Amino acid sequence: MPSEFELIARYFTRATSHTLLGVGDDGALIAPTPGHELVISSDMLVEGTHFLADTDPADLGWKTLAVNLSDIAAMGARPRWATLAVALPAVDEAWLACFARGFFACASEFGIDLIGGDTTRGPRNFCVTIFGEVASGCALRRSGAKAGDDIWVSGRPGRAALGLAHLQGRFRLDEPELADCIAALQRPQPRVALGLALQGLATAAIDVSDGLLADLGHILEASGVAAQLKVAVAPASTFARDAWLAGGDDYELVFTLPTAKHADIAALSQTLGLALTCIGRIEEGPAGRFDITDADGTRIEAPRRGYDHFMSLPEAGTVSPDA
Ligand code: ADP
Ligand code: MG
Repeated sequence: MPSEFELIARYFTRATSHTLLGVGDDGALIAPTPGHELVISSDMLVEGTHFLADTDPADLGWKTLAVNLSDIAAMGARPRWATLAVALPAVDEAWLACFARGFFACASEFGIDLIGGDTTRGPRNFCVTIFGEVASGCALRRSGAKAGDDIWVSGRPGRAALGLAHLQGRFRLDEPELADCIAALQRPQPRVALGLALQGLATAAIDVSDGLLADLGHILEASGVAAQLKVAVAPASTFARDAWLAGGDDYELVFTLPTAKHADIAALSQTLGLALTCIGRIEEGPAGRFDITDADGTRIEAPRRGYDHFMSLPEAGTVSPDA
């Protein structure tokens, strides 16, 4: 049985590219870029709560880092360094090797150095702290949305929730929708390039980890405004619509900006090869209030304010591909 230190050396120590001192001492040393601010965020993934026990370990390794990258993206920052605290019930080296492979695939794709962490025995969970950099004064916050701004979202929220519902037998997806939704659930793509490009454009931004309504709700509350929201998914079923409005785990970005910036967003969508959709407008009104209309224009009630860890979606049906 390998020691804790052998595990760290074998699975969590890799060459770094922009770190003074990484894994192996009592602390890491980093030198932030002059003229920049550090953005720091932590997210924990707990077995049974954030991932199913039989999740592919390489996918889990990817996702453990990707969900943290998403927070850095939402701040408009460049991800740079991460630490990783790991609790494992027992040492399973084959499992750990796959987890590390997925984790470092994500790290190298997004330019992250893993600079430290902790390794201990316990119920399986993973906690990353991530460090990003943003030019001083340029971070995107939740609090800048103004009445009259348009509301935009990247990609198509709800796919991860549909993928999970399919795996749990609560909903049936057919190809090609199935592969798309499972990929969204297991290998989320943090919108780092989008976040960086929104610097100086967006008035507010957040990533969709708990569901569109819940997370956009945070922008409304932080900014002291209300919103008109139009469902931008084909009304194939109430289930699909509710996943769009309230499904969690998507890691798309929601952001606001003045109508005068529409052309910039259209150009950005082209450059990034990423769908960017205008889904509503910020209004004066009670902070956090939503007026929601369905894709066909009828007013609807919110299914619930947002995702929580005990979310249950309506009964099973099927979804047809997006219009
Ligand atoms: P200490 O006892 O001084 O806290 P540890 O024995 O916990 O140190 O860790 C030894 C080194 O390995 C430290 O540099 C720590 O940051 C690093 N480390 C421990 N676990 C991990 C991990 N899962 N991923 C990356 N680095 C880790
Ligand atoms: Mg330690």
